[in-house]
Amino acid sequence: MGPPENNMDLDTLRHSCSHVMAEAVKQLWPKVKLGIGPSIEDGFYYDFDKKEPFTDEDLARIEQKMREIISKNEPFIREELSKKDALNLFKKLKEDYKIELIREIPEDKVSIYKTGKDFIDLCRGPHVESTGKIKAFKLLSVAGAYWHGIETNPMLQRIYGTCFETQKELDEYLKNLEQARLRDHRKLGPQLEFFDIYHEEAGAGLVFYHPKGAALRTIIEDYEKEEHLKRGYQLVITPHIMQAELWKTSGHYEYYKDNMYTFKTEDKEFVLKPMNCPGHILIYKSKIRSYRDLPLRIFELGTVYRNEKAGVLHGLLRVRGFTQDDAHIFCTPGQLVQEIHQVIEFVVDTMKDFGFSDMAIELSTRPEKYIGSQTDWQEATAALESALKEKNLNYEINAGEGAFYGPKIDIKLKDALKRKWQCATIQCDFALPKRFNLGYVDSDGKERQPVMLHRVILGSLERFIGALLEHYNGELPLWLAPVQVLVIPIKDSVSEYGTKIKQALEDNSIRAKIDNRNETLDKKIRNAELDKIPYSVVVGEREAKAGNVSIRRKGKGDIGTLSIEEFIKKIKGEIESKLT
Ligand SMILES: [Zn+2]
Ligand SMILES: [Zn+2]
Repeated sequence: MGPPENNMDLDTLRHSCSHVMAEAVKQLWPKVKLGIGPSIEDGFYYDFDKKEPFTDEDLARIEQKMREIISKNEPFIREELSKKDALNLFKKLKEDYKIELIREIPEDKVSIYKTGKDFIDLCRGPHVESTGKIKAFKLLSVAGAYWHGIETNPMLQRIYGTCFETQKELDEYLKNLEQARLRDHRKLGPQLEFFDIYHEEAGAGLVFYHPKGAALRTIIEDYEKEEHLKRGYQLVITPHIMQAELWKTSGHYEYYKDNMYTFKTEDKEFVLKPMNCPGHILIYKSKIRSYRDLPLRIFELGTVYRNEKAGVLHGLLRVRGFTQDDAHIFCTPGQLVQEIHQVIEFVVDTMKDFGFSDMAIELSTRPEKYIGSQTDWQEATAALESALKEKNLNYEINAGEGAFYGPKIDIKLKDALKRKWQCATIQCDFALPKRFNLGYVDSDGKERQPVMLHRVILGSLERFIGALLEHYNGELPLWLAPVQVLVIPIKDSVSEYGTKIKQALEDNSIRAKIDNRNETLDKKIRNAELDKIPYSVVVGEREAKAGNVSIRRKGKGDIGTLSIEEFIKKIKGEIESKLT
């Protein structure tokens, strides 16, 4: 039973629109079989079993049919049937997938909805009253989707669409979507020669950083190492392969095996690490720890491998190998609050440096099944919450959504188009210290168990780089730009002077390149723009004689002439300030 029929929330509207789409598809191709058609975060979809793929022209035809159905203002009529009658009905309609769904329903009564002359769908509801309530919709794309998401099941065609209460909201959404498409990191990455992920021989979901991408990645890594050292972390490096034994102790072998790459050598089973925690624990365990050693904060730029299904791989967001800025903090229960505060502060400062000011924060609390004592949970959850409050950060509570081994905070950054990107997590863990039998000698000489905090600040560097590229549309702030200055000699006779300038910049740790090609000035400037290089300096005879440079700033054009010393000073100041 759903809520009342006049419920006009957006989900209801969108789901109703998916019915209309299915009705339109059935009118155009009566033999198509129906899957499911839920509302989703930004719209809705419906899965169809149809041999020939839907084309763009098909989508336009479906939209046209949908408009007809909407203009007829057909009511959504609910009926309840016994399971047996429903099975007979959908057998008659030859809707095999619906038959499977009915069999999975535990109750004996099922509800169906009718619209128009003969469209019938199995559905719990709710829907809008009638199709005329749908004012603004658009079909967006088609993708393959396995029935029930299982690879051995038939592959259906999923049509995505969206629907809003007003045309204005829809137009705005479509505009943002188009912008997002233009700055998609999967497009920008190869276009700006940062990375590619498409080597068929190598396999899917693996990232190849080209020189510019590797430069960006190195800048981020150097920044992170420095910031971690400043905040009392110690850097460690752990192996990429470790024996299965270790992963049995940690529990990953039992609970996470499907996501792990394993292999045998000399009769021993090994695991390609999907997480860094067990390695860090072994370092903790390497000697007897005293309360004086705590908190122990160890940090690794840890590359991990996870066996993701081909169907879920997506650009830099879902890959099979990625690097986390991963740290584990081992501390006494009494130090937990202070440590969490420090991590939150770390996250906020870091996001600011990278130019993100907007974040969405979720606090996940104790689930029904949990380990550790009630007091542990209360204290850890209170610590997480008080840290957020102290920083005046807004957050939502996901009641009961924590992992069984501890509460956590997830922080998503919001980019220029208001889209959310998962980055930081801070997770309290009462389980692994127990599994690995970790201890420390307390001030009273007694052995106690430390608490463990798992935390990442940027999360996966791959995903973060994807977020950076899309947020800035490839125009990275000066301190992050792989090439900060392009030196453009106007003609051959000044190329020596140009090289001297490039060297002077490099001597000051400014990343510079020179464009010595035999091209026109206009073309060189245009190329610098396309490569999104923040500064270009143009040098001709006049500049060579005076020992200065004519400066162009991306997006601003000509900004005047400075001596090379003045220019270096200016640009160093800008890099230091991390201003964009
Ligand atoms: Zn429905
Ligand atoms: Zn961990």
